[in-house]
Amino acid sequence: MRALDIIRQKRDGHRLTRGAIDVFVQGVTDGSWPDYQVSALLMAIFLRGMTIDEATDLTQAMVESGMALDWSELTSARGSVAVDKHSTGGVGDKTSLVLAPLAAACGAIVPMMSGRGLGHTGGTLDKLAAIPGFRTDLSLSAMRKALAQTGCVLIRQTADVAPADRKMYALRDATSTVESKPLIASSILSKKITEGIGALVLDVKVGSGGFMEDRDDARELAQWLVRIATRSGVRTEAHLSRMDTPLGRRVGNTNEVLEAIATLKGEGPADLEELSVFLAARMLVLAGVAPEADAESQIRRALTSGRGLETFRAVIIAQGGDPRVINDPSVMPWAEQEAYVTAPRAGYITKLHAGAIGHAAVVLGAGRDHVDAVIDPGVGIDVLMPEGTAVQAGDAVLRVTWRDSARRDAALARLASAVEVGDQAPASVPLVFETIHGEETA
Ligand code: URA
Repeated sequence: MRALDIIRQKRDGHRLTRGAIDVFVQGVTDGSWPDYQVSALLMAIFLRGMTIDEATDLTQAMVESGMALDWSELTSARGSVAVDKHSTGGVGDKTSLVLAPLAAACGAIVPMMSGRGLGHTGGTLDKLAAIPGFRTDLSLSAMRKALAQTGCVLIRQTADVAPADRKMYALRDATSTVESKPLIASSILSKKITEGIGALVLDVKVGSGGFMEDRDDARELAQWLVRIATRSGVRTEAHLSRMDTPLGRRVGNTNEVLEAIATLKGEGPADLEELSVFLAARMLVLAGVAPEADAESQIRRALTSGRGLETFRAVIIAQGGDPRVINDPSVMPWAEQEAYVTAPRAGYITKLHAGAIGHAAVVLGAGRDHVDAVIDPGVGIDVLMPEGTAVQAGDAVLRVTWRDSARRDAALARLASAVEVGDQAPASVPLVFETIHGEETA
């Protein structure tokens, strides 16, 4: 089957067969399809859409374009399956660092692979890089050993994870075809399914600090994700959660790791603890580790007993990191200079705009605005007063930790409208407001 025929089929609105999709993905992977033909097909898909069967076939072909992992020797004796959580990304979202050790402490096998952050949402790998010595490039045998020891690994996606996705994503980025829901869903899932998981919990963020601001858009993406994953044999559910204000109080890298550790000690902010416990409990249920009625109390016990924290310590040691970070923040990189964003008037904080705070963090150097940008783990933004707090004019609401004065000034300019104060405290909004189950969408 020639590239030209496959492009024409999609251009004219026909369904692509699994055979045609395999030819396409093979052509992307081995480079035999030139970029202009790959881009032409991506644009045809963008304009004509895909059926759920086509998107599932595309996902599976992309998984098969690279290595596939299998942890059944670790999970079958436990009667469970390996499990992961994926978030579409948010400002201050460090739940992975909290929930993966908690779920592992309860008996789950969590082979979590992450990508680097790009744009205003931070990346788990960048946060982990703030821990001195922490290695995310484990070999397969080191990964297996670490998983057997601790139940959890936090590693990077290597070049042989869904290599077709890597090339397609770069071309989508350059041809304005990123926003196609079946393409987004197959891209995300090809990398997750490669991990060898049998269960997946999705946290689809909605709001200015997330990938999607509109609730209907986010729901539609969640439905694509859940349907494709379920058809691919992965028990999956998606939760829509709020991302219009930062999650927790700290945005950056070192400061986010410290906040995750504080949460594992039971001293974290309520929203971060609530979301982490909720998602970790859903991981236990979907993985077959705990029954519905008991999953949340198992996770809570892992938190209050300190077993989650001990698992995180074990993960840090297994991956070459310095475990002193658990009790001694001074071993982590930190930029010591501080600036403040203050309340413009007296009243209640009605909004802390996650999008503005996330973009300001990138400008400071805590995130990446282009793929090769170098991250400074020590800079960041701390929320001193969250939404709903009563303030006087001039009270410090945000603390900016900086190293470069030009970056500080640019970040402060971005933050100028990040804080809104009104006469009344805002009504409280649930953190997780909708769930999409696999059975409903299959
Ligand atoms: N994240 C991905 O991994 N792929 C997309 O297409 C969009 C977000």
